[in-house]
Amino acid sequence: MTHAGETPRPEPDQSTIRPPSVSGRLHHLPAVHRLLASPCLAPWLQSLGRVRVRMACTTVLDQIREEAAGPVPDLDIICARVVNHLRQTTEPHLRRVINATGVVLHTGLGRAPLAQAAVSAVQHTATHYTNLELDLDNGQRGHRSDLVAAHLRAITGAEAALVVNNNAAAVLLVLAAVAVGREVVISRGELVEIGGSFRIPEVLAQSGAHLREVGTTNRTYARDYAAALGPETALLLKVHQSNFRILGFTTAPEIAELTALGHAHGIPVAFDMGSGALVPGLPGTEQAPHHNVRSALEAGADVVTFSGDKLLGGPQAGILCGRAAYIDACAHHPLQRALRVDKMTLAALEATLDLYRSGNLEAIPTLRMLLRSERELAACAEELRQRIAHRLGPHCATSVIAGDSVAGGGSLPEYPLPTAVVAVRPMTCGVDTLAARLRRGAIPVVARIGNDALLLDPRTLLPGDELALPELLATAMEQASDHG
Ligand SMILES: *Cc1c(COP(=O)(O)O)cnc(C)c1O
Repeated sequence: MTHAGETPRPEPDQSTIRPPSVSGRLHHLPAVHRLLASPCLAPWLQSLGRVRVRMACTTVLDQIREEAAGPVPDLDIICARVVNHLRQTTEPHLRRVINATGVVLHTGLGRAPLAQAAVSAVQHTATHYTNLELDLDNGQRGHRSDLVAAHLRAITGAEAALVVNNNAAAVLLVLAAVAVGREVVISRGELVEIGGSFRIPEVLAQSGAHLREVGTTNRTYARDYAAALGPETALLLKVHQSNFRILGFTTAPEIAELTALGHAHGIPVAFDMGSGALVPGLPGTEQAPHHNVRSALEAGADVVTFSGDKLLGGPQAGILCGRAAYIDACAHHPLQRALRVDKMTLAALEATLDLYRSGNLEAIPTLRMLLRSERELAACAEELRQRIAHRLGPHCATSVIAGDSVAGGGSLPEYPLPTAVVAVRPMTCGVDTLAARLRRGAIPVVARIGNDALLLDPRTLLPGDELALPELLATAMEQASDHG
C-alpha cells in the first residue's frame, strides 16, 4: 500500500474553523495540511501513507489544544512531536536491546540469543510445511518431540527425552505424571521461588501431588529423606536452588546419595536442574557438577529437567531427559498437549543441539560469551572506551576497570566471571538520568550502575554493538543534559 503517487487533497484549515470564542493562542495553530507538507514528515508519508500520518497530526494538534496556557509551539516542534508520536505508535513493542549488563542469561532481556544456524532453521520451518507430526518413513502420525530426542539422548546419555514449552512446564508435567495424589519428598532448603513467581510448593500443589517436606532450611541429610519414605511416597525431588544460596552451615545430599536411597526402595528420583549444562568445561561447572545433565543422569537421576534457554543457549523450552518409563508417562499425560512446544522452537532447538553434536560450541552465542577470556574482554573494553572517549570528548570521563559478569538465569550464581568493564562518568548530568535516557534510545541500551558510573560490560555485547554504543551514548548525553 503506497500513497506516494497520491495527489494531496486540500485539508480544511483547522485554524479557520475554530469558533471565535476560542482563546487567541489557538489561532496560531497550523493547519493539518501545512503539517503534512512539511519536509520532516515526507519520509513518514512515504512509508506509512497519508491516513496514518494525518491521524498523528490531528492527535498532536488536539493535545496542544488541550494543553494549558503558553504560546503555541513552532511548526518545527510540532512536526517533531508528530514524528515522536509516529515512532511510538508504529515501532514494534518487542524490540532489540543492547545488553551491556554482563548478565549472559538475563531473563528480563529474553535470555539466550540464538545461534545463526538456529535462526535459519526457524525461518525455514516458519515459512514451509514440515513433518512436525508425520513419520515420513511409514506415513503414520509421529510425535513432535521425537525430532530432537535422538540428539538429546546422544548428548546426555539419557534413555529417552521429551521437550515442552519451558522448564516450569517440564517440572509440572513430571509431578503430575509420576506423583499425582501421592507424596513428593523434598528438602526444606529447596522449596524455592525462582524469578517470575515459579514457586516449587505452588507448582507441586497444581500438579496434584502432595508435598512432604524434610530437613531444615540449611541442613538436610539423606536420613531425613529416608525417614519420610512410606507407601505414599511417589518421588524424591531435588531442586537446584538457582539464584538463591544459603552459605555457611549447610548440608544437602548429593544426587547419588538420593538415588541410592530412592532406588533401594523402588522410588524414582527427579532433579530439576533449571540450568543444565550439556558440556563439561563451562566456567564454574567443574566446581558445580550438579549443573551437568550427563553427570546427573550417571549419578542415577531418573528424570532431569532443565531449560532450553539457560546454559544450553537455545530457544525457550523445557527438556526432560531420563528413564524411558517415566519420560513415556510424561509424553502420554493429558497435560503434555497443553504444554507442548511449537515447531519454530523445535527447529531452533534441533539446530542448536546439532552444533553441540558437531562440537561447534563457538557458534552458540551463550557459550561463546561464557567462555570469553579476561584478556580478550580487557582488550574489547579498552577499544570500546577509546571509541566512547573519542565520540563524547570532554563531556564524560572514561576508564576501564575490573569487574564481574554473571551467567544469570539462576545459572552458576556462586561463580562470578571476571571481566573488564568500561566505566562512563558523565560530567553534564547524573548517571541515573543517563541510564534512563539510554534505555529509551533508538536502540535501547541496558547497563549497570556502580561507583557513580555507568558500567558497560563487553562480555554480553553482540557483534556491531560496540559501533552503535558511542552514538547512542552521545544522543542520550545530549538529551539528559538538555532536560536534566
Ligand atoms: C529457571 C528455573 C526454572 C524455570 O524454568 P523456565 O524455563 O524459566 O520455565 C525451574 N527450576 C529451576 C531450578 C530454575 O532455575
